[in-house]
Amino acid sequence: MPYNQLNARDIERLEAIVGKEHVLIGDAIHEDFTHDEMMEYGCFSPDAVVQAMTAGQVSQIMKLAYERELPVTPRGSGTGLCGGCVAISGGILLSLAGMNQILEFDEENLTVTIEPGVLLMDLAAAAIERGLLYPPDPGEKSATVGGNVMTNAGGMRAVKYGVTREYVRGMTVVLPNGDIARFGGKVAKNSSGYDLKNLLIGSEGTLAIVTELILKLVPLPPHSLSLLVPFATLASCIETVPKIIMSRVVPTAIEFMERDVIEASERYLGHTFPDKTSNAYLLLTFDGHSQAELEAAYRKVADICLENGAIDVFISDTEERQDSIWKARGAFLEAINTSTPSMDECDVVVPRNRIADYVKSVAGVQKKFNLRIPSFGHAGDGNLHVYLCKDDATDEIWEHKRQAIMEIMYETAKMMGGQVSGEHGIGHAKIRYLEESVDEASLALMHGIKQVFDPKNILNPGKVVRLQPENTL
Ligand SMILES: Cc1cc2nc3c(=O)[nH]c(=O)nc-3n(C[C@H](O)[C@H](O)[C@H](O)COP(=O)(O)OP(=O)(O)OC[C@H]3O[C@@H](n4cnc5c(N)ncnc54)[C@H](O)[C@@H]3O)c2cc1C
Repeated sequence: MPYNQLNARDIERLEAIVGKEHVLIGDAIHEDFTHDEMMEYGCFSPDAVVQAMTAGQVSQIMKLAYERELPVTPRGSGTGLCGGCVAISGGILLSLAGMNQILEFDEENLTVTIEPGVLLMDLAAAAIERGLLYPPDPGEKSATVGGNVMTNAGGMRAVKYGVTREYVRGMTVVLPNGDIARFGGKVAKNSSGYDLKNLLIGSEGTLAIVTELILKLVPLPPHSLSLLVPFATLASCIETVPKIIMSRVVPTAIEFMERDVIEASERYLGHTFPDKTSNAYLLLTFDGHSQAELEAAYRKVADICLENGAIDVFISDTEERQDSIWKARGAFLEAINTSTPSMDECDVVVPRNRIADYVKSVAGVQKKFNLRIPSFGHAGDGNLHVYLCKDDATDEIWEHKRQAIMEIMYETAKMMGGQVSGEHGIGHAKIRYLEESVDEASLALMHGIKQVFDPKNILNPGKVVRLQPENTL
């Protein structure tokens, strides 16, 4: 074994740090802790689940793990999609979910300071109560904000507001040896040496554990509406997106979806979508500080859609109608998941002007391999979510087709100037594709960075980059 095994003395020491009730072992470890939302990537039992409540406890846990050379896997809500929060090497699964306090709204600096286990939905609601907006809006609202930061989560509003990275001003972290460090702060600008805060964002808990975050907020735009735009074909639907971008109007969100995904969502939610007579749809949202600004923007985009083959433009201007459409959109992943015994996902991002080409290539792959491959996603930022569905294929055929299709999809994205993951991250499931997509010099730098932060390779080993020793898959 490359790591030491957790022993009875380690358990006693962990119980002394966090209290007996916050150390789970054996049958007390719920099955949920063995996987994230992609069970396809395997289930792995940690030796202990430890629930930390303070940064001081996290520091003591890491000091113990460092001394004893025990692997530690940080975990938020476990809603990840690439096996990032799963203890593939055993050891300690360190839950940050209990550190869930919103510590301070600073309305002079437009910042909020939180613990990492605050849920996205709770932060969003608390900001809105104060007339403020925390813009990042990934689909899974029960994710922790710490998990969002560690995956640099994207989501629906990225077209206008950007991704999680843009809203992190500062953070407190515990390093693998237990030391505590602070990166950034409440400041709006920072040119003070290497930007360690930005290095940590999206590092998937492989470099340090986040114990506090300072996040940027913006004034809440009082007006918003959504457009649902049906098209006869997926091609005309997607080809309209770069034309919208070229018009200089900036919608808050531009999502695309196909009829079969909408139908799956209806079956899953038991809730009727406003229209499903067409093959493909764009769903757009606009927000603004005046009704006039909003109207000018959506009318221009509606005209562009109609000039480019849209069959109609449905306006949703009440909160209730908008909620009903976005609720259906939010359920796509679960709806596809429940429609098939097994699935694999690809979260590539390509330049926005190549998204139509990429969607066409997925359609070609679907035909060639005769496997159902529904897709939907963030058309406005070039980030597609493509799902390979096993359906009634045998295990052998599924495995063969899955491997072959994934190779093609990542290779195609690379050829188009894209990246392996737009927002879900690498975890342990996508390491191979990351290694194939970056050049040797970049990979060597990534390995070097991991070694500087974590010389004993105890923090979330086998994720993002592969070092030895570890139990890689
Ligand atoms: C239905 C559904 C829809 C989704 N939609 C989106 C979407 O639109 N956009 C998007 O980006 N993602 C989406 N996701 C993926 C997922 O919700 C995000 O990756 C989210 O950021 C994970 O947060 P979490 O709290 O569940 O983290 P976890 O899954 O628990 O962990 C994710 C990673 O962060 C690390 N980590 C967690 N907390 C800490 C911490 N405090 N310190 C250090 N490391 C930590 C873990 O080790 C792991 O590597 C979706 C998932 C589902 C199930």
